[in-house]
Amino acid sequence: MLRTLLLVLLIVAPARAAELDLDPRLQARLESLMAGRPGAVLVYRLGDGAVRAAVRPRVAFGQAHPPGSVAKIVTASALLESRVLPAGFAVNCTNHVTIAGRGYTCGYPGGHGKVDLKGALERSCSIFFYVAGQRLADPAWRRAAASFGLGSASAPYPGAAAGRAVLPTARRARTLALAGEGGTVLLSPWQAAVLIERVLEGRHGLLREALVGAVLRGTGKGAGDAGGKTGTAEIAPRRTLGWFAGWTPARAPRYVVVVFLESASGHDAALLAGRVIRVLK
Ligand SMILES: [Zn+2]
Repeated sequence: MLRTLLLVLLIVAPARAAELDLDPRLQARLESLMAGRPGAVLVYRLGDGAVRAAVRPRVAFGQAHPPGSVAKIVTASALLESRVLPAGFAVNCTNHVTIAGRGYTCGYPGGHGKVDLKGALERSCSIFFYVAGQRLADPAWRRAAASFGLGSASAPYPGAAAGRAVLPTARRARTLALAGEGGTVLLSPWQAAVLIERVLEGRHGLLREALVGAVLRGTGKGAGDAGGKTGTAEIAPRRTLGWFAGWTPARAPRYVVVVFLESASGHDAALLAGRVIRVLK
């Protein structure tokens, strides 16, 4: 298995293959955690950028999928960078909103109530992103996406899946895309790991605080001593992909952990990330 893994990585990652530093024991334990569960797991060490484990590397590096609400990190970053939200900006989520005559729902029964940007990321409130996203200019979102390496074949491994980062022009599709819905944004698990690393390196402490809050109080519950964002991407009726992209420990990040599961929810991925993180301790 390890030989296959290295072979795949050498194919997809000629430029940085030397930075692979797989831990065979960790790899074996994570493979057993993922037995019978289609998807991928990546553990990436911060600082030296070594990949310590990659369960199903063809999926982890070579496949891009809709990230669901993980994409809210990009929109949140664009909102912060472009400073289009006044101080104290909040949205009252009643689970439904009408924008330009079209209805949108949040997916959280009863609604989240009043949420600001931090609360909206923590609790993954789509209504906030639908409403706040109307203030955002397309280039600001594209800049944020590019800064995270989305839609780029060269970032970070040449030859790895480039994914997609397209903001539709039609208003409804655009509004949905800003909250991570629709198929216009596609990420590989590896790109999700890089996104998290860039959140940790970035200048917006609010993003990091929100993602720590997401695990403490929000959708990432079950991931343990971590910060991170879940995503549940609907790809067909009653068929979803589950994501968790985050880091551990929450207050002294050492590893980026990404869990991608087919036929699962973001909650399932957060629970599996919790098991991965217990192995890392
Ligand atoms: Zn909401």
